[in-house]
Amino acid sequence: KRILITGGTGFIGQPLCQKLIADGHELTVLSRQPALNVQSLCGRVEAVGDLKELSGSEGFDAIINLAGEGIADKRWSEARKQQLRDSRIALTNQLVDIIRTWKTLPSVMVSGSAVGFYGDQGNHRVTEDTPPHDEFTHRLCSDWEQAALRLEPAGVRICLSRTGVVAGPGGGFLQRMLLPFKLGLGGRLGSGEQYMPWVHRDDVVAAINWMMETETAQGAYNVVSPNPVTNRQFTKSLAGVLGRPAIFPVPAPVLKVALGEMSRLLLTGQMAIPERLQAEGFQFRFPELSPALADATRY
Ligand code: NDP
Repeated sequence: KRILITGGTGFIGQPLCQKLIADGHELTVLSRQPALNVQSLCGRVEAVGDLKELSGSEGFDAIINLAGEGIADKRWSEARKQQLRDSRIALTNQLVDIIRTWKTLPSVMVSGSAVGFYGDQGNHRVTEDTPPHDEFTHRLCSDWEQAALRLEPAGVRICLSRTGVVAGPGGGFLQRMLLPFKLGLGGRLGSGEQYMPWVHRDDVVAAINWMMETETAQGAYNVVSPNPVTNRQFTKSLAGVLGRPAIFPVPAPVLKVALGEMSRLLLTGQMAIPERLQAEGFQFRFPELSPALADATRY
């Protein structure tokens, strides 16, 4: 297949590109620093620095759309919130507008979203049908999904990856947690009762590939492990895997002062279940937390 991918240089995108190359696909990666970033992918990859360069392109079989500024990288000022929105929603709208000018359309687009779509759900079980709680992450994900769905009337199959908290080696949220935990300074966040819908990065890569390849797959999928845990359980497992104590809880008010509204990423959550992936036959490689964490912290 010829595949166009945005976000192909990221924490999820890099191993995804490696798998797609290994499977014999031809990739075009959109990157703001194509020369620099795409080198590391090596293989059958072409880099594109600007969406406009794609206006004359034809003949992609599939689009994978993951680009977006890091949600947990900086405090959520109004300007930062606008960057988070523009790098997803505006970019996806531009991409869809360009694709709609092509004579030959791709058959599928797998586009990003996150469990933040549902907002804070306390300890309710969350499936793809659960009504969302209206807050910033809900509007961000919902508008991002709607931008991708604009391609559907043209006859393109759209799959939306409502991804959970991704655990993998060498990056993501786990990388930030490792140092305090390794020093024995780890602990639960706030009450620790909030759910963390974790998922191993290998399963995210496999799920995106599954959505692309499965012709009956369509719409939103929770890309989370079948076993969500509370922050307290997660903390205990991580400490166990690292062989360290985790006895220093971080009180919620400290996180609220340090991170502002962004503290909601750590202090609220969703007990999200991959109901549709499981019903439609997707097999998880890392359904259980401890083996997933052992693998993700192996470096
Ligand atoms: P990374 O932060 O590792 O990578 C982000 C990618 O987006 C990079 O490839 C970067 O490309 C591109 N990008 C960033 N900012 C911009 C911008 N302003 N304009 C255009 N492109 C931009 O993200 P992940 O791989 O971790 O995640 C991929 C997507 O999945 C993200 O949208 C993220 O929100 C979502 N997600 C991730 C989760 C996680 O736990 N990792 C959880 C839920 C959702 P380049 O620098 O080459 O231009």
